Amino acid sequence: MSKFGITLLNEITCQDCKTTSYVFEDHFNLSLGYPKPQAKGSSQVSYTLGGCLDWLTRVEEVQNYYCKSCCAMTTTHRKTSIWKLREVLVLHFKKFKMNSMSSNDKDIIKFPLDDLVMDKYIYEASGREKS
Ligand SMILES: [Zn+2]
Repeated sequence: MSKFGITLLNEITCQDCKTTSYVFEDHFNLSLGYPKPQAKGSSQVSYTLGGCLDWLTRVEEVQNYYCKSCCAMTTTHRKTSIWKLREVLVLHFKKFKMNSMSSNDKDIIKFPLDDLVMDKYIYEASGREKS
């Protein structure tokens, strides 16, 4: 087993039949996005690592998902959690944006590593049973 990597769990719940499917993903590093400011030309924004993890683990609505229970395209809610952390976690921030002028965001991401608690992002620690 590698010292590096992370396993994410995606819980995908169909909003029509309420069936939840569980999809596991192994990654070498954790790729983190964050909410981009809507206004064009807005000034530099700063984020925290915890804020990026909150953004990763939010409940997200996904349109046009094929539900195997309904046998139809439906709307689902997707919730990402961390299933398993290994010894070393490599973080990667999605700062590159694609538009007519591809560029890197100038936004700042703060790293309060001393008080970073990962428990709330881990599936087992969130008070639910593994199934
Ligand atoms: Zn369904």
